[in-house]
Amino acid sequence: MSATTKLTATRLNRLFLAGELSAEEIVEAYLERIQAVDGQVGAYLTVTAAEARERARKLDARRKAGDTALGPLAGVPVAIKDNICTQGIRTTCASRILENFVPPYDATVVSRLQAAGAIIIGKTNLDEFAMGSSTENSAFQVTRNPWDISRVPGGSSGGSAAAVAADLCAAALGSDTGGSIRQPAALCGVVGLKPTYGAVSRYGLVAFASSLDQIGPITKDVADAALLLSVIAGYDRRDSTSHPDADRLQRIQLPTDPNLSGIRVGVPREYFAQGVEPGVRQAVEQAIAKLAELGATVDEVSLPHTEYALDAYYIVATAEASSNLARYDGVRYGLRAEADSVTEMYLRTRQQGFGLEVKRRIMLGTYALSAGYYDAYYKKAQQVRTLVIRDFEAAFRRFDVLVAPTSPTVAWGLGERLDDPLAMYMADILTIPANLAGLPAISIPCGLSQGLPVGLQIIGRHFDEPTVLRVAYAYEKVTQHHQTRPALGQ
Ligand code: GLN
Repeated sequence: MSATTKLTATRLNRLFLAGELSAEEIVEAYLERIQAVDGQVGAYLTVTAAEARERARKLDARRKAGDTALGPLAGVPVAIKDNICTQGIRTTCASRILENFVPPYDATVVSRLQAAGAIIIGKTNLDEFAMGSSTENSAFQVTRNPWDISRVPGGSSGGSAAAVAADLCAAALGSDTGGSIRQPAALCGVVGLKPTYGAVSRYGLVAFASSLDQIGPITKDVADAALLLSVIAGYDRRDSTSHPDADRLQRIQLPTDPNLSGIRVGVPREYFAQGVEPGVRQAVEQAIAKLAELGATVDEVSLPHTEYALDAYYIVATAEASSNLARYDGVRYGLRAEADSVTEMYLRTRQQGFGLEVKRRIMLGTYALSAGYYDAYYKKAQQVRTLVIRDFEAAFRRFDVLVAPTSPTVAWGLGERLDDPLAMYMADILTIPANLAGLPAISIPCGLSQGLPVGLQIIGRHFDEPTVLRVAYAYEKVTQHHQTRPALGQ
């Protein structure tokens, strides 16, 4: 199997710009690997082979003509989660209701990737409308964990994480509403970064829960995460939640020296409570010891409202989802069922078009927002959200970053949690608080437990991705965990 597909985005770009690898060679290596391996993994819903080849030819021609403005991702094949719009390319959200939806425009992140020279290689599988933690809620196919194909890759960006882990793309984009970038990255042994709310434009991201959704990179190492972030971050007037400070993230310098003296690391006690597997706890504790060896000061901290975060999330997220998903009525997008009346058409379209989990969320959210229940549920959840935010504000007066496990467990078996929605929801218990507070957080590989990857989560202050990435990069420099790869197909 070609060694090309093992390279990081940073390295591929360097080799392409130096003329050592053509974009066509790179694209062919990936298409060959997808052909050979994706039958086992199931990461892609759509492979854009023709478009990728065409784009590679153009990039090669520009390079040969001496173009010096090819961009920091020139020649790099990137996969896009299939809830991010790509002009002229089917964007399904892994839902029957959008099975044949072809967007007339690109999401801002896609335009930005392309302006930086990236080659879109395909669209990846997800839980329907990004609702889930295992990618099993896709209406179309199962995605398997490249470390053990009898296990889930995590979710909802499971296709993107599995594609990066199995070398089926150099890097990928995911979306994270309650953990959907970090949790699959942890379970697949790759790097996943959820940026600050407002740092990356969501124009063209199919909305799930608008006060929580963020797009971010899934990559093979921390330097690539910084590179992709610098390309996709930035103010965008087409997203009303976009923040002017986002432009600052386009210039992130990673220090070459891994010394962390002066960095204050907080370890939230509540994130190590019941439910965290001993093997996960051990790997994370070793990682924390490593940060101390690098010169960081480490101390325990309490985030006392952590135990209410999951409950608040499942009110806020479902309430927002129920109104966001009202637009799928058979009139404007995708599927339309046959019926004698308009009302009957709405009902049948939504009955046939949405899967079980999506229907469950719409019902929960509609209930939480309805007259008489709004104060008891939605308003209460918003108040809890404020308490979670205040916990973080207090912690960040004493600490620069907070570190914890990303997921309480390693990857579980396919089907194991399908009949138990609560067990599935628990998978995000450690990632959801950062979404409620809009904070940046990364997951990086920190070792194995039972032969499966464990993720270390690093949470930072708003728009302080530079410090989050600095700590992650220092850790990665002095450890080998990100180089341990799954055996699949090698
Ligand atoms: N697993 C969580 C949920 O199902 C988070 C999903 C996400 O971040 N998109 O809501």
